[in-house]
Amino acid sequence: MGAKKKADCTPEEWAAYLKRQRENNKTSYHKNKEKLRERINAKNRERWANDPEFRQRRLTARKNYVPTPEALAKKRKQDNQRSRLKLAGLRPETFEVLLTLQGNCCAVCGRSFTKTPQADHCHDTGQPRGLLCATCNSVEGKIKATGLTPAEFATRLQAYLDNPPARTAELAA
Ligand SMILES: [Zn+2]
Repeated sequence: MGAKKKADCTPEEWAAYLKRQRENNKTSYHKNKEKLRERINAKNRERWANDPEFRQRRLTARKNYVPTPEALAKKRKQDNQRSRLKLAGLRPETFEVLLTLQGNCCAVCGRSFTKTPQADHCHDTGQPRGLLCATCNSVEGKIKATGLTPAEFATRLQAYLDNPPARTAELAA
């Protein structure tokens, strides 16, 4: 495929072309990332051994590195997200696929996500189940804690709301 020129295409064609390029780059990067990383590491090791200036630069950079509060917050958020996904047995790629599959909505209540979706997994099998909003994720766990199935819980909750004991008590008083 020859290189495309921006001037020769419509904005849509150009955007599609860029997207394709990005995807190709991503695919080949992921396919070769260990080899690439190893090549870079080998080169750096060699420079570290033979180039005092490089060594000094690296040491100074390390000593002087002060992350900004924003960088720290971003790192914390990424770490949290990664460890949550890991807990749920989800790879970041699967997370993205799930999000698209669920149409950016909670798999239980169907509301659109306004905050980071929570990756839900089965605590008995460890299998990932899907993405839930914070409310549904916590409700699921809390219903489980009652020892009732969700269906039993729903039936009993409805019966309770329809006929709350306080009403009977009032009638009896
Ligand atoms: Zn929900």
